[in-house]
Order: sequence, then structure tokens, then C-alpha cells
Amino acid sequence: MKLTPLGPWIARKIKHDQQNGRGLTRELIEAYQLEKLRQTLELVSTQSIFYQHHLAGCDLDLRNLDQLKHLPFTTADDIKKNPVHFLTVSQGEIDRIVTLQSSGTTGQPKRIYFTTADQELTIDFFQQGMATFVEPGDRVLILLPGKNPGSVGDLLRQGLARHGVKGIVYGPVFNPAETLEVIQKEEIDCLVGIPVQVLSLARYRDTNGLPVSVGVKNVLLSTDYVPEAVVQALQEAWGCRVFNHYGSTEMGLGGGVECAALKGYHLREADLYFEVVDPVSGEVLPDGEYGEVVFTTLTRQGMPLIRYKTGDFSRFLKEPCPCGTVLKRLDSVKGRLMGTVELRTGNCISISELDETILRFKGVVDFSAELREGNEQVLTITIFQAGGNQEPVEPEAVLQALMKLVQLENAVEQGCLKLRVQVENGEQKRSITSSKRLVAIIPERDELS
Ligand SMILES: [Zn+2]
Repeated sequence: MKLTPLGPWIARKIKHDQQNGRGLTRELIEAYQLEKLRQTLELVSTQSIFYQHHLAGCDLDLRNLDQLKHLPFTTADDIKKNPVHFLTVSQGEIDRIVTLQSSGTTGQPKRIYFTTADQELTIDFFQQGMATFVEPGDRVLILLPGKNPGSVGDLLRQGLARHGVKGIVYGPVFNPAETLEVIQKEEIDCLVGIPVQVLSLARYRDTNGLPVSVGVKNVLLSTDYVPEAVVQALQEAWGCRVFNHYGSTEMGLGGGVECAALKGYHLREADLYFEVVDPVSGEVLPDGEYGEVVFTTLTRQGMPLIRYKTGDFSRFLKEPCPCGTVLKRLDSVKGRLMGTVELRTGNCISISELDETILRFKGVVDFSAELREGNEQVLTITIFQAGGNQEPVEPEAVLQALMKLVQLENAVEQGCLKLRVQVENGEQKRSITSSKRLVAIIPERDELS
């Protein structure tokens, strides 16, 4: 099996490139990470107004990586309050600012700042990560925003060009028929996109009710969480390999990518230090145990982050990867901690459980979920059908599948939950862009007539 290209790349970055990375060891990686952590702590404690306060009184003279656990976490709210206070350079040295809107209607946006050097690190990662499955001469359609210089699609295009691969920035899918035409015309080998968006292409049916034939060999799904149901649907539709990428803007767009073993992400260990912690106590968890993913930047210049809580739920895999690398593997992310709602029975239902159940239905491309609080809870699922000439999705069949989730079944049987499934018919009324789907919770007082 092909070794992840991230191994030799990280070996070069930490200046240990003997035998094309084969001589790389955990000890070498960790010694490098400790040195970079110490440099980052020195930088933020002298240059960042936020961290001067946040880390005041902490022992920053780390002798080993384990001692990082004594430092406080950084949260999304910390960034929202005053993002400029995180900067370790003058604002004039910032080349790109990404504004992330909060999922709620209120609340300030989150701003993340990058210098030119920070963006160079991302381009370099994209080049190496994509080399896992594309070869010079391949053609990649990028279904991510990419109009602006420094946007994710633009940096990916630049990374691919360095590998001799043509990246075409298309942007998000609004009309699957149109996108499929471009895939055929441009003879695309590989797609990069958000899970439900790529799913909308695979499930599109032409006027004869048939799938559109494409020559896509590889797909990279990029977001914080990829439903397994989507991966399987794409493999079946196109006979392609489906790789997952894990990343967020805060990580510098890229975090990690699966190797040919397709079992867990190899991480950007020369740029990011990852931990998995107990979401309640904050204790660092041993490999194999599920918890919240936390990362610290090791090489970022404009806006370094120390122990940033991602809200993503995963674990480190204990067993070595079949590809033979010494890099760690983060298991596929099981959804977000905030993507969970509490039912009156005391049990929780997560958006990822809804995903795995609903997205398995052929013809479904996306859905929204709304939980209305009242005398009883009412969970309404609105299903969006794939475009083109489709067999209609039966709401009753989806309802029955949902009732197999034991939390929902119990709540319905105890009379404290009503479950409704409706199908949005006709043309897609909204764009399929929900990379982070959440259950919308409507409070009791918000009574609509
Ligand atoms: Zn591997």
C-alpha cells in the first residue's frame, strides 16, 4: 500500500529526510513539536494581548509535550470577543481575514487572520495531501468557494498546480445538471467538495431517470464531519475511491487527510499539535478513547492558537496504519458536540445519527431538522430530493427508519415527542451548502399561528 505522502513531507519539514522519510520516528516528530511549541508560547506570551492575559501565571517553560495539558483551552467565544487581540503581528502584515458567521442569529462572527507565510503553509499542505490520490496530468474540479485570492479553492488550486495537476475552481453546486455537464466536458478525474453537494451530483437523474455517467476516479470530501452514508453512496454510484479531509479555517484550512488505507486522517503534525480531551473535565484522554479534538498551531505567524477546542468528536486510533507511516491517525470525526439535542426522556439525538439514517435513502440529497419545544417536543425533518427525474422519496419509509433509532422510539412511545417527516417537492428551493447541519431548536415562547 502506498505510504501517505505526508510522512516524507513532514520528515523534510523537520529536517530529517533520510530514505525519503523512512527513518522518521515518533521521537523525532515529538522533539520537533516540543521545540515549536516552546517558540509559539514565547511568541504569543510576548506579542498577543489575549494570550498575555490568558496565560498569565502559567509555566510556559515546557520540558515535555505532556506539560501542555496544564495550559488553559482557547474557545471559539474567546476569538469572537476580540479576534484582533490574538494577533502576534501588526494588522498591516495580515494578508487575509476569514469571517465565519455563527450558526445562531445572534452572536458575533469569528474572524481568523493569516499572513502570507501562513497561507504558504496551507498551499504546501494541500499539494502534499492531494498527492495521496492525484497524479501530474490529472484534472480536479474544486466545488468549494475559490473566487477570492487566498480562499480555500484558490489555495487548493495553487497547491495542485505545484504537483502538475490542473485545478478548476467551480464553486458550490447550485444546479447539479450544469455541474455534471462541466465534469463531462472538462474530463474531470477528481472532485473536491462538501459531502451533500457531491451527493447531489451522484443522485441526479436525467430525463430518462438514469444517472449521468462521469469518469471520476477519486473524490475528496472536505468538512469537519463526513457521513458514512455519503461515502458509500458515492462509491456505489461512480466506483470511485472516496477520501476524507479533516480541517477548519482555525486550523489553517487543512488539518489532515486519509491515506490509501481509508481509515482515519493522517495529520499535519509539523504544523499542528492535536490532543483528544474529555469534553467535560478537560483531561487529556489516552489513544483509543473518544473525546473532543483540541489543537495547537506550531508554525502559524499571524494568529497562533493554543489548545483550541474544536467541538469535534473523535479519537486517536491505537493500531499502526496499514500504509506503514509513523504518523498518528485520527479516527473519522463522529460529528460535533454542539450538533446534539436533548429529548425529554433525557436521551440525546445527534445530527450525525440523523445523517446516517436519512442520507441512506436513494433520492435524498439533504435535509433540515427542527425541534419545536411545547407541551411535547415536535421534531420535523424536511427532506430535499435530488434533482432531475427521480422516484419520489416516501416520507413514511423515512419515518419508520428513524423510529429504529432507540432514543426516538422511546420518546415517541412515552408520548413526549412527535416525529414528522416531510418531503420538499419540485425544484430545489435552496442551495445545498450545509456543511455543518444542526438541529434548529425553536423555544416554546416562539409560538407561530
Ligand atoms: Zn496511512
